Amino acid sequence: MEPSHQLPKTYDFAEVEERWRNRWRDEDFYFDRNSQKPQFVIDTPPPYPTGNFHIGNALNWCYIDFFARYKRMRGFNVMFPQGWDCHGLPTEVKVEEINKITKNDVSREEFRRMCRELTIKNIEQMRQTLRRMAFSVDWSNEYITMRPEYFKKTQLSFLRMLASGYIYQSEHPVNFCTRCETAIAFAEVAYDERDTRLNYFDFDGIEIATTRPELLAACVAVAVHPADDRYHMLKGRTLNVPIFNHPVPVVEDEAVDPAFGSGAVMICTFGDKQDVHWWKQHNLALRKAIDRRGRMTMLAQKYEGMTAAECRKAILSDMKEQMILRRQEELGQRVGACWRCKTPIEILSERQWFVKIKPDEILEAAHQVAWYPEHMLLRMENWVEQMEWDWCISRQRIFATPIPVWFCKQCGQMTVPEEQDLPLDPTLTKPHHPCRKCGSTEFIPEEDVLDTWMDSSISVLDVTGWDGTGNPAIFPAQIRSQGHDIIRTWAFYTILRSVALTGLRPWDQILVNGMVLGEDGFKMSKSRGNIIVPEEILSKYGADALRQWAATGAATGSDIMFNWNDVVAASRFQTKMWNIARFVLLQLEKEEIEKNTIVTALTDRWLLVRLSETVGKVTEAMEQYQFDTAFKAIREFAWDVLADNYIELVKGRLYARDEPRKSACLVLHTAYDALCRMLAPFTPYFADECYAHLHQGSVHKQPWVAFTYDDPEARVEGDILAKVVAEVRKYKHDTGLALNAPLGKVTIYAPHTIDDEGDTTRTLNADILWRTDTAKLDRVVTDIEFNRSVVGPSFRKQAQAFMDAVRALPPEQLEHPPRTIQLEGSDVEIPPNSFTPRFSYMEGGAKVDVVTVGGVIVTIQCSSATDALSRSYKAA
Ligand SMILES: [Zn+2]
Ligand SMILES: [Zn+2]
Repeated sequence: MEPSHQLPKTYDFAEVEERWRNRWRDEDFYFDRNSQKPQFVIDTPPPYPTGNFHIGNALNWCYIDFFARYKRMRGFNVMFPQGWDCHGLPTEVKVEEINKITKNDVSREEFRRMCRELTIKNIEQMRQTLRRMAFSVDWSNEYITMRPEYFKKTQLSFLRMLASGYIYQSEHPVNFCTRCETAIAFAEVAYDERDTRLNYFDFDGIEIATTRPELLAACVAVAVHPADDRYHMLKGRTLNVPIFNHPVPVVEDEAVDPAFGSGAVMICTFGDKQDVHWWKQHNLALRKAIDRRGRMTMLAQKYEGMTAAECRKAILSDMKEQMILRRQEELGQRVGACWRCKTPIEILSERQWFVKIKPDEILEAAHQVAWYPEHMLLRMENWVEQMEWDWCISRQRIFATPIPVWFCKQCGQMTVPEEQDLPLDPTLTKPHHPCRKCGSTEFIPEEDVLDTWMDSSISVLDVTGWDGTGNPAIFPAQIRSQGHDIIRTWAFYTILRSVALTGLRPWDQILVNGMVLGEDGFKMSKSRGNIIVPEEILSKYGADALRQWAATGAATGSDIMFNWNDVVAASRFQTKMWNIARFVLLQLEKEEIEKNTIVTALTDRWLLVRLSETVGKVTEAMEQYQFDTAFKAIREFAWDVLADNYIELVKGRLYARDEPRKSACLVLHTAYDALCRMLAPFTPYFADECYAHLHQGSVHKQPWVAFTYDDPEARVEGDILAKVVAEVRKYKHDTGLALNAPLGKVTIYAPHTIDDEGDTTRTLNADILWRTDTAKLDRVVTDIEFNRSVVGPSFRKQAQAFMDAVRALPPEQLEHPPRTIQLEGSDVEIPPNSFTPRFSYMEGGAKVDVVTVGGVIVTIQCSSATDALSRSYKAA
């Protein structure tokens, strides 16, 4: 214990945080695979290594760290792994930008090397922020998805799911970004409002409206509603597509909206999801008019090679020339775009790899998981229920896990590697055996790679030690923590993969956090300029203040608005706590703590009851991941109960150095120790600093607070006492008295008398008398306050005479004034709001001030010295 006189007056977060960061050791947070303690394995989100650990990540990690530290204190063997989800488009795009190349300008290996290099650099930057934020990460369980030891597992899981029929290859329409030249999953389509034009044109005698005339070459049918009389005669006929002249059937479908455009629509392969639906339903032909790069194909005849936009312009102009374009209308439209580059997606039919979605299986597992907050499960249910297509997992990119498959050049037979040969890149190696079907030794490697969610959706399998030899002993994990924005991706895919590979749910619980919005209430974005970076907060107010903001900003699961005021308030609380620490430590320094001191004083017992209640409330909230409730309870106890009430009540006793002092010191010691422990998960630097001044060792190695104290009488009486003292102190403050000034005689009329062992007397510096009878008070008018802005203009020269006349009124008339008053011989009206009587109370012939606290009446008979001052006090 360092003597408190060495405690600096102000808390220097920068110095303290750096000192502790250097003192803490990584090993203290390692998961122990041989431990006898109950396990608590956390499936943490692997961030994308952009180089910037953003504030949304910070919120998520704060939540994880709060409960990871709490669970350790509760005796759990905690694993808080840190992963990095490396693969994917953003890094490829960045590498292309930085090096001013496209992926095709260099070899695949060279391009991958550039991506890996950038990723490693970015990860290192983000690790620094994680450490500054004091996250108790288990660095011995760090995983990096681009490393061979990780993507070996991704490939193994692919082969296992291929063998069990979960994964298949097929030609099927998929969402495709022609800018990124890759298929993308539904979850990666971002919808955008755009203005477009609806073009009405003559389609072989009937009118059709389309927003995408460039798809005319891909037209495979015209659809009408079966009940639409306008098109009755078309039944069973074929029509000729304008400009291209190929014949297409007319089909009838209930899903056609007769009110849209002319009521007849063309079906193209593919304009949108509805086209895909109709195409399957009516078994229509497939016409690919747009290729992977967004260019028109041979089918588009003279438009071949144009971009879709160029083709649209050209076709519209040709339509005009042929006089078949009738009119055009402006139309707002919801367009699906690539989540990464915002290019509108095309739906292309491609040979791709898919994972089968079995909704019932996923829902069953999702229901075995406890969701915090509970309503987040609904989002999962809604998503699963609306799934129409299987999960497209192949990507036509480079920086990703290769699909470990070859095809025989002769017969097309698929060949997969032996599991022990993983990881591998099929473009760099060959199968060990000739083709099992035809014996050929020539193979075509699969060049497609895997969706990055294929990597991250086995994070929980990786950290629990899955290697394909059976379910790991520590699987399932205890909890997953993530944002609600990735329920339909990461949570969904993880459950799917876990069930497919292990037959079990991936975790017992899932904790879902909200999004962080900018100070303006909008999603943070570069274009709005409302982005706050954690480093800025860290350097201005420190990690503990930022962590407090995360705890108190919103209920778990709700979106949380960033607000500098919250961070400032957090920093103020730290200052308040530091002042409490300095006071407490100074008292404890003067007194050897005797653990078996019997606590008798009411205030002491009251504080212990309040502490016990706080511990109960905080513990329960922590168990439910309600960090805002937990932290607010700690803050209220420390600030309101301990500092503003208890310490004020016992200060006199502590300074008096008589016997009850020991009891107060034991209480302070107990409360201080409990506060350090309860603060430890939230403000680890601050808690360790405070704790180190009281005990040896780190607070982070202590068990959670297990303090209970029951004393219903002390709870009730102590509350009355604290409120009375607070109100009388406020009275002193309002009347301009020093808080330690003598106050005279104070009588407290309460339901029963309270024995406080002199604390009230010392605190208020007054003679205190507790009484249980009813106060006998006479109310008298002592003063009249005139409203000069009313009296002046109304009476002018007669103002003085008016005021004298009012003063002469009997007291009951002052309280309920008559309508008129006699003024120099005539009745004049009393203007409203012209005066207010001031009352005083008399008790036993002496003037007293009265303070009421709930049902308790307190009378204060000031000593003569303070009487003059108290006159200005306006009793209620
Ligand atoms: Zn794109
Ligand atoms: Zn073959």
